[in-house]
Amino acid sequence: MIIAIDGPSGAGKSTLGKLLAKKFGLLYLDTGAMYRAVGLAVLESGTSLDDADAVARIAADCNIELVGEPDHLQIILNGRDVSTEIRTNEVGQAASKVSTISEVRRILVDHQRELGLESKNGAVLDGRDIGSVVFPNADIKFFLTADAEARARRRFEEDLEKGRAVSFEHTFEEIKERDHRDATRSDSPLVRAAGAIEIDTSDLSLEEVFGKMIESVEKFKG
Ligand code: C5P
Repeated sequence: MIIAIDGPSGAGKSTLGKLLAKKFGLLYLDTGAMYRAVGLAVLESGTSLDDADAVARIAADCNIELVGEPDHLQIILNGRDVSTEIRTNEVGQAASKVSTISEVRRILVDHQRELGLESKNGAVLDGRDIGSVVFPNADIKFFLTADAEARARRRFEEDLEKGRAVSFEHTFEEIKERDHRDATRSDSPLVRAAGAIEIDTSDLSLEEVFGKMIESVEKFKG
């Protein structure tokens, strides 16, 4: 069983993706973390994010592994655990820039398909293009949304907890900038895939959204 979860940042994709993977015993693949790992590698190399050829070469040399259970997922870049480092806003912006480069997408999409297909019971993948490009034949597709302010509020609270918040306004601007880039890029922009179940999470609790998602999965399983 392949479950695709797409949507803009801060809509709850990764929290819900992890919960679903755990509940149904599936592999959880955080595809955003893979773009973030490439973004981090580019920043550390001192290469310009605008130099598409150099960025693609770095992406080709990146060995990215996702290790462990959904709620303790570790992101390993060339043998180094970068799980914490990739969560900064700077790396998020870098990820969004490298993700506009088609060659980078091709490399990561191949990797994602491979991991999804070789999973034992199936996988939950969260990202922006899972239901439209990576697994257009996914068994269940979700499109999670929420208004930009609600998403920024959640991200800001998360950042506060982790001690890396700047200000709400900063997070809000950052989210709007990233959304705009993700939705307007020419290769695999963020779209609601055909057949995707859309859930607006702005005014719903985590439990309510999770309940709706479980219902859809149970229905599919029959
Ligand atoms: O989901 P997350 O915010 O960690 O993703 C970081 C960035 O990676 C996104 O802003 C987006 O530009 C890119 N991304 C993508 N396709 C995916 C997952 C993430 O382009 N499937």
